[in-house]
Amino acid sequence: MNALLELRAVRAAHEGITVLHGVDLRVGAGQVVALLGPNGAGKTTTLHVAAGLHPVQSGRLVLGGREMTGADPRALARAGVCLIPEGRGVFPNLSVRDNLLMMTFTGRTREEIEELAFDRFPVLGRRAGQIAGTLSGGEQQMLALARGLATDPAVLLLDELSMGLAPLVVSRLYEQVAEIARQGVAVLVVEQFAAAVLGIADHAAVLVRGRIERQGRPDGGLRDELSALYLGSS
Ligand code: ATP
Repeated sequence: MNALLELRAVRAAHEGITVLHGVDLRVGAGQVVALLGPNGAGKTTTLHVAAGLHPVQSGRLVLGGREMTGADPRALARAGVCLIPEGRGVFPNLSVRDNLLMMTFTGRTREEIEELAFDRFPVLGRRAGQIAGTLSGGEQQMLALARGLATDPAVLLLDELSMGLAPLVVSRLYEQVAEIARQGVAVLVVEQFAAAVLGIADHAAVLVRGRIERQGRPDGGLRDELSALYLGSS
């Protein structure tokens, strides 16, 4: 696999305390990679490193073979990295339409952005005039994804997409994520609880206290290990 996004031996710290101890991850175009692990393992920090929002102490960030270590968030966004943060990152006091309208900074027209969003998520079209904060959690997550897709990302970073959502809503969202990957996007998904994302992931990595303890295909062995990890940490 030719990796589009690569983290090589990444170490990173918060306030002088190292929280990532040499993380290696590769995500290819068209692939969904799940990064799983308990609370505080360093999953969000890993995504922030990939988006240029958090500096590395050592190690490398490589994008499509290009050295991007130390690049700022703008440079990474220009290179096609898009982060959908935990909590969704929509503007709750603006309508669906205005949330999408803001994405015209990408150079796409309003019509193009709406067509893209409403084709993929028809419910957003029906709720175009609605204030985003009054949408259901799942619809807000769709809006966040639609905003992200307007940037035409090469790499999509998703932080805890399932947070606070019903299992059925989560599996529908993940069907859309799988479809986005099929169109050639490299998708790195962070989740604490694994079940839904393992259904679509090509590859999964388990992060514990800043170290990748295991990675591979999301098969039975990996699932058993995750169950043991969560049972053991509860
Ligand atoms: P969660 O699922 O709780 O978001 P996570 O796996 O995403 O967890 P991170 O948020 O990356 O983990 O945090 C990794 C470690 O870094 C944790 O020990 C956390 O307490 C610490 N940390 C995170 N953000 C900060 C910060 N702003 N200042 C100090 N320490 C932080």
